[in-house]
Amino acid sequence: MRALRFDNRFLRELPGDPDLGPGIRQVAAAWSRVRPTPVAAPRLIAHSAEMAATLGIGDAEIASPEFAQVFGGNALLPGMDPFAANYGGHQFGQWAGQLGDGRAISLGETVGADGRRWELQLKGAGPTPYSRSADGRAVLRSSIREFLCSEAMHHLGVPTTRALSLVSTGDAVVRDMFYDGHPQAEPGAIVCRVSPSFIRFGNFELPYSRGDIDGLRALADFCIARDFPGLAGQGEALYGDWFATVCERTAVLMAHWMRVGFVHGVMNTDNLSILGLTIDYGPYGWIDDFDPDWTPNTTDAGGKRYRFGWQPKIAYWNLTRLAHALSPLFGDVAALNAGLQRFMDRFVEADRANVAGKLGLRDARDADVESMQTLLALLQLGEVDMTLWFRALSRFDPEAEIAAQVEGALFAEAFYDPDKRTQTAPGFVEWLTLHAARLREDARPAAERRAAMDAVNPKFVMRNYLAQQVIDRAGQGDEAGIAELLDVMRRPYDEQPGREEFARRRPDWARDKAGCSMLSCSS
Ligand code: AMP
Ligand code: MG
Ligand code: MG
Repeated sequence: MRALRFDNRFLRELPGDPDLGPGIRQVAAAWSRVRPTPVAAPRLIAHSAEMAATLGIGDAEIASPEFAQVFGGNALLPGMDPFAANYGGHQFGQWAGQLGDGRAISLGETVGADGRRWELQLKGAGPTPYSRSADGRAVLRSSIREFLCSEAMHHLGVPTTRALSLVSTGDAVVRDMFYDGHPQAEPGAIVCRVSPSFIRFGNFELPYSRGDIDGLRALADFCIARDFPGLAGQGEALYGDWFATVCERTAVLMAHWMRVGFVHGVMNTDNLSILGLTIDYGPYGWIDDFDPDWTPNTTDAGGKRYRFGWQPKIAYWNLTRLAHALSPLFGDVAALNAGLQRFMDRFVEADRANVAGKLGLRDARDADVESMQTLLALLQLGEVDMTLWFRALSRFDPEAEIAAQVEGALFAEAFYDPDKRTQTAPGFVEWLTLHAARLREDARPAAERRAAMDAVNPKFVMRNYLAQQVIDRAGQGDEAGIAELLDVMRRPYDEQPGREEFARRRPDWARDKAGCSMLSCSS
């Protein structure tokens, strides 16, 4: 991997803990040096061609045994200097103290020929000083899910950390399977995640919680210099611009999640990226039938804090925690309040753009935003598949008879329950009648409208059952499904004739099956 040149700024510029061994302790530093724990038999299962190309890694290098050794944690390339980052976080609304990378080990920061910086990080490479009593490992099923979804999100145009590779370790990992409660040995795996930065809100909360204002300031200065090079100015004005930028990016991210029907599942402050990227793919899920109250996270079943429809307000709450942590850098709270307001304004703007885009309008007015609310209520009442319904809407003809379109083939695939379809048909006729009038006013060539809608309403999303099928096949020794699904998810907005099987509603067998539509944290 001759193209990989490392420049490890996080280690060089921030205070660290030189200890090389794992253990359970409090660490008063931004990182700890740690070595990945070797695995028995690293084998490359899948890789992202786009990410490899971006890093300048060629096909021959990917196929070489060295690749699996390095990205399975058994070997280091020149310039790699592995470490685990230290951070804290609010989990499910409560301050949880020091957490840190318990099963992620960064190998180093590469700088490409284009000057872009990418940190390479192994998830599941063994214990770190932050592992507490856990093993630092990851099971194959959750690694497949993280690998596939990171790349799928990238192709959907949603800001995200990336995934370079998926390597099986040849070692077993023992987990309590949540559906029967018994410990089971499962195959282990390691994903190499890639991101310009893995700094989370929780990185700032930790020094704040310890009254370490110098450490907090050093981290903020470092993050601004490395991860926000476009920001100029200095002092409080710079910190204020930076916080407002973080707020904006988080707002944009939330609007993307709501657009594509993604539910993160564990929006703790240690799982929110300072760059506004989707990070930490655990018990995430995708909305099939539209339901704002749905969460895929079984650990969260009681309060449903991390339900789909609450994601923007939870992101805002997380930003208030970040504001709190950054407050020692400010003389008064005005700049922080202005940043939080920026979240509100930017989310309203991005949400409005979603309304326009998803409905096929040039711009959305207040009445259109209300109309979208009416529509979403109908989708929920009728148990309608969000992805399929919006995709079908671009084929709706405002000049043709509306009742016939509601009852015909156009929207048929989107309904899970024939009775609910019949019951909500009058509501859909009414809504589409108003919508047809609105489209006439918005006068736009049908082909242009359809293309614009298809560019924001994906045909293919990483439905939970699709990932589960791939996982089940892999469990039986057939790993080909991973690359197949990744290939479909490369072009989620294209029609891809012949691949309709990947664009169907969730089948009945997957409806309530534990392990398929519901998932627990940290597997
Ligand atoms: P998560 O909810 O997956 O974001 O994890 C919360 C915290 O638990 C983080 O500090 C993780 O590094 C840590 N953690 C989760 N799973 C493991 C594991 N298997 N081994 C060590 N640490 C873990
Ligand atoms: Mg995490
Ligand atoms: Mg439901």
